[in-house]
Amino acid sequence: MVVRLVIGLLMTVVVVAFVGRRAWAIYSLIRSGQPAPDRSQDLPRRLRTQLVEVFGQTRLLKWSVPGLAHFFTFWAFVILLTVYIEAYGALFVPDFAIPLIGHWPALGFLQDTIAVLCLLSLGVFAVIRIRNAPERKERASRFYGSHTGGAWLILFMIFNVLWTLFFFRAASSALGTFPYTSGAWASIGLGNLFTGLSEPALEVVESVGLLLHIGVMLAFLIIVAYSKHLHIFVAPINVSAKRFPKALGPLPVMTSGGKPIDFEDPGEDDVFGRGKIEDFTWKGMLDMATCTECGRCQSQCPAWNTGKPLSPKLVIMDLRDHLMAKAPYLIGGKQMPEEGAIDFAAAGADGAAEGHDRHGVPESGFERVRGSGPDQAARPLVGTAEQGGVIDPDVLWSCTTCGACVEQCPVDIEHVDHIVDMRRHQVLIESEFPSELGALFRNLENKGNPWGQNARNRMDWTKKLGFDVHIFDGELAPEVEYLFWIGCAGAFDDGAQKTVQATAELLHRAGVNYVVLGPEETCTGDPARRSGNEFLFQMLAQQNVEVLNGVFEGREPGTRKIVTTCPHCLNTLGREYPQLDGHYEVVHHTQLLNKLVREGKLVPVAAPEPESSVTYHDPCYLGRHNEIYEDPRALVGAAGAHLSEMPRHADRSMCCGAGGARMWMEERIGQRVNVNRTTEALDTLEGAGGEQGTIAVGCPFCRTMLTDGLTQAQGQGTGENVQVQDVSQLLLAAVKRGADSSA
Ligand code: SF4
Ligand code: SF4
Repeated sequence: MVVRLVIGLLMTVVVVAFVGRRAWAIYSLIRSGQPAPDRSQDLPRRLRTQLVEVFGQTRLLKWSVPGLAHFFTFWAFVILLTVYIEAYGALFVPDFAIPLIGHWPALGFLQDTIAVLCLLSLGVFAVIRIRNAPERKERASRFYGSHTGGAWLILFMIFNVLWTLFFFRAASSALGTFPYTSGAWASIGLGNLFTGLSEPALEVVESVGLLLHIGVMLAFLIIVAYSKHLHIFVAPINVSAKRFPKALGPLPVMTSGGKPIDFEDPGEDDVFGRGKIEDFTWKGMLDMATCTECGRCQSQCPAWNTGKPLSPKLVIMDLRDHLMAKAPYLIGGKQMPEEGAIDFAAAGADGAAEGHDRHGVPESGFERVRGSGPDQAARPLVGTAEQGGVIDPDVLWSCTTCGACVEQCPVDIEHVDHIVDMRRHQVLIESEFPSELGALFRNLENKGNPWGQNARNRMDWTKKLGFDVHIFDGELAPEVEYLFWIGCAGAFDDGAQKTVQATAELLHRAGVNYVVLGPEETCTGDPARRSGNEFLFQMLAQQNVEVLNGVFEGREPGTRKIVTTCPHCLNTLGREYPQLDGHYEVVHHTQLLNKLVREGKLVPVAAPEPESSVTYHDPCYLGRHNEIYEDPRALVGAAGAHLSEMPRHADRSMCCGAGGARMWMEERIGQRVNVNRTTEALDTLEGAGGEQGTIAVGCPFCRTMLTDGLTQAQGQGTGENVQVQDVSQLLLAAVKRGADSSA
């Protein structure tokens, strides 16, 4: 008894000392990040999030099979803490039982049952990993680039925890020191295997089982603390510190030292974006430490799925590995080398890390420079192979900010914010960005729209309408309910003009009173912001907020209504302008039109014969970023069309390729995103059995991208009778049918 007590306590003290040292180092490293004061506010909400997301495992359960397996594993960790209390108690008192509940059969049942479910879950994880082995499936595997050896070790260690648990408990049951006489069905059942052993032999077996069970847990602790599997401990903290309601929709304001940057008079020491790993906030660093390498983000990423070097998982892993390698310089007192002291091209930085290179662009930039020597500390955060960059420019600029990664990440990592923050530094400080963006920035700055068109042409879309569209004339009449925000695409793009024309006609037919700004309208600044040009965004946004606040002057909250056909405008006007004191109620045209249909102000009539199938493409900034999924679908149904869903739809929808200012950049690597998405749409329509079909959209940029994709497909002989239309056009056709039949 004394021997096992001494061994058990000695092992524990040594491991606690090692793990405590490591925990302090990780804490110091993360605390060295920039402040993020907003992440410790609203504690009750953060506590609720903890309960729902961590204990309810809600985000993991989005993927049912692995989600359920993870659910059981997580709860095994929680419930089996009681077994460890019993184990440590048994070091001191052989027949120890937890006070009050220690002999309760229900607790014994729960412990055994969750342990068995966890064992089964390990089997599920093993099958998933074998079926998705990156060695076989390469980039199609979500584990491509993850540390699969480490993941197998973790599964093996959990297995060891479980078999030693049953070994110890079964021996204890046979010896008569087990706290439960019933309930712990598996342990008591296994205890029968020891029948026939003498009491001294059983005492030895039970002590061995007990020390093995404790020893395995302690070894597991060291592995977790000193490996890339830290997430087991930090994930719950990361989830609680998340951006509310989620890290999509509006981009956060640019801060330096935890305070918003004043772009009219920036401070001399202000840090613009993230140019070095230490520029990230502590929450950003916690994100890096939290990644489980599960690859859910990678599996959904449109850039990755079309052969680009960008994987959101590998970005986070690269940042984490660089942070850890640089830690001795950040918190360990090691001397940082002078900036530019190392010539990475001459030093022969691995241009292509082994097994992670396609198209000449490494997917894992961290591996270009190994170890934690001065080379590691001196390397730029973003840069080419010659520059020794951790994140390659082709990785950084491939992102469409579609948000699929953030949506799927089970531990609330904020990939889009980090990518845009790195872009901000590249644009504002380094002036390094794809050359095409130069034209975009010039057009936005000089003409107030990405196309460089004249503002006086902003009303051209109204020329073919059979009714008047009123322009705001300095005073908003009380009967005017909405400001119709046309957007640059609606004003200048041929396809998008059809959308705003259809919407205007529907509003006109429904008797909705609205005005437009006409030449006073300017780009909301979305493409500038998402490409990192925060300065230009602030300029455009301030101008718009000034105009809009003038339009709505004297109007109470709830009556400052804007309707727009562009999800990017919707997001910026409604959810980013409050950052500049612009507060409006902004709705997407599909939301307003659906309301008008439900109120009977628009009466669509289905065609007598169902004409063709329709598939609906969810725009990222309408769906994932703003969670508007149902209204456009309701309108497709109201128009009498049969909706066939694409395999990737709603929150797992595939991007069209235009977001994140990608609309204005060349797509030089891999397959074009719009072609990939159009193929999926055409396959869906073909599967629905129709010769004809419509790809319905709710965004002017999706419209352009899918129309281009369709044109290319038609050039190759497919999709002959397919068209791309905005949902409003489908509705207008149905409403006109109704009007014609009642005429
Ligand atoms: S936002 Fe979209 S494109 Fe960008 S990394 Fe995430 S999934 Fe990939
Ligand atoms: S989904 Fe989240 S946890 Fe999983 S690999 Fe991506 S970033 Fe890491």
